[in-house]
Amino acid sequence: MFKIGCHLSSSGGYLKMAETAVSIGANVFQYFTRNPRGGAAKPYDPADVEKYIAFASENGIVTPLAHAPYTLNACAAKPQLRVFARETMADDLRRIDALPGALYNFHPGSHVGQGADEGVRLIAELLNEVLSAQQNAAVLLETMSGKGSEVGGRFEELRAIIDRVELKDKLGVCLDTCHVYDAGYDIVGDLDGVLREFDAVVGLERLRAVHLNDSKNPFASHKDRHEVIGGGALGLDALTRVINHPLLRELPFYLETPNELDGYAAEIALLKSRRDD
Ligand code: FE
Ligand code: FE
Ligand code: ZN
Repeated sequence: MFKIGCHLSSSGGYLKMAETAVSIGANVFQYFTRNPRGGAAKPYDPADVEKYIAFASENGIVTPLAHAPYTLNACAAKPQLRVFARETMADDLRRIDALPGALYNFHPGSHVGQGADEGVRLIAELLNEVLSAQQNAAVLLETMSGKGSEVGGRFEELRAIIDRVELKDKLGVCLDTCHVYDAGYDIVGDLDGVLREFDAVVGLERLRAVHLNDSKNPFASHKDRHEVIGGGALGLDALTRVINHPLLRELPFYLETPNELDGYAAEIALLKSRRDD
């Protein structure tokens, strides 16, 4: 099954997101757990979750992917910011745990001058405090473009975090096509080579999701500006190879392209037409 969808607004709740997904031909979706720039989550609505679960199973909606707020920095220098990061992630994970197939994606963090090694240490420390053996949801480290002091622009940094986390079976990786290309992994010219490197350093078994984006900026620019599918430096042919690659094709693909709903519907239809049977 081709699992394809996009980022949706969570303001109407879970059932609304699933209905919207169906209306645009998607069977997966991503959403923010709360305002991406910070702030409180909406009150938890168990009736909405129950309706969502029934609707999702009837309509083949799988792997709802929660995206942590951008303000969550697990390796911030200020202790109170790390407390916010820990409490936000713990609260988010409680909220999504009843959703079948729930995934939780976060930007590993920005070390803000403390150095990548200290960033890795703090990120792993937070994960060791937050992850629990009882949780259902998997937590995914997103591959980053390496702008500023971002941790996770190199596969080795993701591996170093994973190495330090105790509950490794709760941890995975989400590969963002715009980010890895901007970070200097040539998925346009040598997708096989990049996947070989990812497998050697991180392990392909850890890869649980793909953010499918084109990039406004050239290879290795370390910029992170998403472009519509086929409108950027990656191009439609390279992204077509991503969705059909034997090592990737069973993963869920989430568009985070600059689109309104009709644009997403068109991209989903385009990608379905480019998918090999
Ligand atoms: Fe992201
Ligand atoms: Fe992303
Ligand atoms: Zn991005």
